[in-house]
Amino acid sequence: MNLNELYEVVVKRQPNDKEFLQAVDEVFDSLKVIEEVHPELLSDDVLKRIVEPERQIIFRVPWVDDNGVTQVNRGYRIQFNSAIGPYKGGIRLHPSVNISIIKFLGFEQIFKNALTTLPMGGGKGGSDFDPKGKSDAEVMRFCQSFMTELYRYIGPEVDVPAGDIGTGAREVGYMFGQYKRITRDFSGVLTGKGLTFGGSLTRTEATGYGLCYFTQALLKDNGTTFDGKTVAISGSGNVAIYACEKATQLGAKVVTLSDSNGYIYDANGIDLDLVKEIKEVKRGRIKEYVDVHPEATYVAGERPWSVKCDIALPCATQNELDIEDAKKLVANGVFCVCEGANMPTTPAAIKYLMENGVYYAPGKASNAGGVACSGLEMSQNAMHLSWTFEEVDEKLEGIMNEIFRQCRDTAIEYGHEKEYVIGANIAGFLKVATAMKAQGTV
Ligand code: NDP
Repeated sequence: MNLNELYEVVVKRQPNDKEFLQAVDEVFDSLKVIEEVHPELLSDDVLKRIVEPERQIIFRVPWVDDNGVTQVNRGYRIQFNSAIGPYKGGIRLHPSVNISIIKFLGFEQIFKNALTTLPMGGGKGGSDFDPKGKSDAEVMRFCQSFMTELYRYIGPEVDVPAGDIGTGAREVGYMFGQYKRITRDFSGVLTGKGLTFGGSLTRTEATGYGLCYFTQALLKDNGTTFDGKTVAISGSGNVAIYACEKATQLGAKVVTLSDSNGYIYDANGIDLDLVKEIKEVKRGRIKEYVDVHPEATYVAGERPWSVKCDIALPCATQNELDIEDAKKLVANGVFCVCEGANMPTTPAAIKYLMENGVYYAPGKASNAGGVACSGLEMSQNAMHLSWTFEEVDEKLEGIMNEIFRQCRDTAIEYGHEKEYVIGANIAGFLKVATAMKAQGTV
């Protein structure tokens, strides 16, 4: 069965799961390069198995709100692939969550985790619960109910969830507490934990910092640096905030951030202390920024891609940078687009960017710093010790440089120099496929 035939099988099996099909299509597109030169590396047996999750768990999450009314959400955990290690991937809490979104994220996670060089398989979970506007007590009751079902399926050597959209330190803390209470087991079953109970220094910063380390490696390889560059970032959550921080430290000027209601533009460079106060302390909206900085502008209902920039870092959500956005970025002379979010750039936008000479880095490579640091948190938990911020940060930078090297060298090896998406997909796939073949048909 060739890749086109297998893709039809995948479509037939889940015709409505559009995000998942988009993610499979992107990986298959890169694998066609192997099909042309080394068809023997694409074993039929591996391909058929890799697109089917090992396990899909869907469960009811009942909880009682502050008015005493019972609410019901749906919980998911997709254990996609354990060929190279325990399942590993975050938990997304957002009203848009459905099986297609969790499956696409789990599928991407397989290759991302392989690229980190750490022994982690691919998984993802979540719920259509929306933490926005809920009291701490409501969030706690939801997290406890969610874990009361999930605990059966996870464990430090089985499946280790983490944060994602809507799941930060607060939610991970509540979930960890409930897991420990039910199982009487204090272990590294979740990553992104608080620093007083097994969390790793640098985990909060890791995805955003890692994105900038990857981007720095890409810039260096192409003869330039962050210094003096203008950067547009979308989102104002965990990834966006720490990407903004590191890009600024590396000498760039970040001029935009956003949320699902609109974006802010500050020609003087984003005041990150203020953003942290609004988002991390008050859990407010990004438009509150202009109340303190009236010289900045807030544009409601728009994304930041019409702003002139050298580097674009989409850090909000999937499919948030489309072909029209890509045209504006190219017209404004963007040099590279490196993804902080998972699959934020649509396929048409990716094609347009690359055809117009823009360097494009897929999230499965450029945002792998978060899961890499989670892997380092697992190591520290297993050894019952903690590394310093500097030690973890240094390891993180080393891992991101290595991921860039794999993307670059694999792309060159297969005759597609500078096409980092091809390098990422092939390098990740070959590592997992080799492990799957060695373990037999399981
Ligand atoms: P957060 O919940 O901290 O922040 C998400 C940000 O994206 C918010 O500003 C949010 O705005 C915005 N956003 C969410 N949904 C939408 C939407 N439908 N349209 C426009 N904006 C939206 O999440 P993270 O920063 O952790 O995650 C951001 C991205 O990075 C996700 O794609 C995630 O999968 C990916 N990622 C995260 C990692 C991590 O370690 N946290 C690791 C690797 C990837 P609003 O408040 O209005 O919803």
